[in-house]
Amino acid sequence: MALNKSMHPRNRYKDKPPDFAYLASKYPDFQQHVHTSLTGKPIVNFKEPEAVRALTCTLLKEDFGLAIEIPLERLIPTVPLRLNYIHWVEDLIDGQKQPRRGIDIGTGASCIYPLLGATMNGWYFLATEVDDICFDYATKNVEQNNLSDLVKVVKVPQKTLLMDALKEETEMVYDFCMCNPPFFANQLEAKGVNSRNSRRPPPSSVNTGGVTEIMAEGGELEFVKRIIHDSLQLKKRLRWYSCMLGKKCSLAPLKEELRKQGVPKVTHTEFCQGRTMRWALAWSFYDDVVVPVSECSRVKVTLCSFPQLFVGQSAMLSAASLLPQTPAVSPMTGEQKEAPEKVTGEDVDMESSTCTGTGQEADLKETPAAASEPPSKRPVSPSTVKHFLFKCLLNVIQEQSDVVIEMHWVEGLNRDLMNQLCTYLKNTLLKTVAKS
Ligand code: SAH
Repeated sequence: MALNKSMHPRNRYKDKPPDFAYLASKYPDFQQHVHTSLTGKPIVNFKEPEAVRALTCTLLKEDFGLAIEIPLERLIPTVPLRLNYIHWVEDLIDGQKQPRRGIDIGTGASCIYPLLGATMNGWYFLATEVDDICFDYATKNVEQNNLSDLVKVVKVPQKTLLMDALKEETEMVYDFCMCNPPFFANQLEAKGVNSRNSRRPPPSSVNTGGVTEIMAEGGELEFVKRIIHDSLQLKKRLRWYSCMLGKKCSLAPLKEELRKQGVPKVTHTEFCQGRTMRWALAWSFYDDVVVPVSECSRVKVTLCSFPQLFVGQSAMLSAASLLPQTPAVSPMTGEQKEAPEKVTGEDVDMESSTCTGTGQEADLKETPAAASEPPSKRPVSPSTVKHFLFKCLLNVIQEQSDVVIEMHWVEGLNRDLMNQLCTYLKNTLLKTVAKS
């Protein structure tokens, strides 16, 4: 499926989805959940928790040599999504194949992040859990895979997040924490009320998970805010703090919270696997951490929308005045709006629009429009601009009947600003569509 293009580039399933027929022939437990579609293809019904569990256990065994047990009444992780997050953490800490130290907040019955991180990269983990059943299973899963030297599972009280887990070790610096927080604030949200665009199809997979796993007071927003507040006390005890988000609309208020608190390094990404989208946020109090450069940000619109742009050109764009001084203005609030069905965060497909105001305040080099300006108004070359928030390369490419605008990071204050500009462009163009 097209959405797979935003799976992490190193995700082993990115271009090679699991081969159900092969796995069924090798694993009898999995075979009983594989059916044949009308067109003769082997398929798995993701609405059946037993089938999801069988697939997860089979993939962990086949591809990572891990044998795990998970009860049906607790959250059953899907492997491609969890891998996306692990690879992003690798990017954050530059930690592939190096012994690193991490914390998994709410490890679940599977203990999947520590098991994957330890197996793939030799990472050490402190894994926390509040739920007795999850704690027991997680402990057993670590032991039966002989990973007790690398992974320590601890039971923590409900009210605490990082502070208590770190109380005993006052010196140790951790490279990162990761967390897949309980998603829903209440029963209604868990059923999908308020959390989805009504035009969207219902979720294609079952929502497995017990009450403490998927519901937390205030939902993921409050849960992550509590981690942010712990991080404000712990600061450099961890190089990177990170959280996965189940709802895109959680991203903007959390980034705003981090901005308000003056956290110096903030970045986010999105994970896409099949039809499931997730987002992740990371922040750091270290000035020397390198924010990973992911694949470029892209905006896609139909060709007729861009009569004034010359297809196939590159332009260097330096954003000094284009972005609002307080990032909270349009890009951030715009992100909270309900996105159209097809928005994946990377592509925006639109029927028609006009491109207005996107290049006026920027320095666009060597475009015919710029060249025809009187010299006093003509923008200066990006290389001579002294004060800029960031510079990026803007490619405008024709792809069949679409125009794709790609933004490639060059240099600047924070890569996230480029993502904000991309979001701003998307939102501006979407508004134009809505009006027409
Ligand atoms: N990491 C696993 C499980 C995520 S579900 C996965 O990705 O599949 C969220 C987990 O957080 C649940 O197991 C829940 O019991 C646990 N949890 C909830 N509140 C917690 C807290 N305050 N501290 C630690 N774990 C918590």
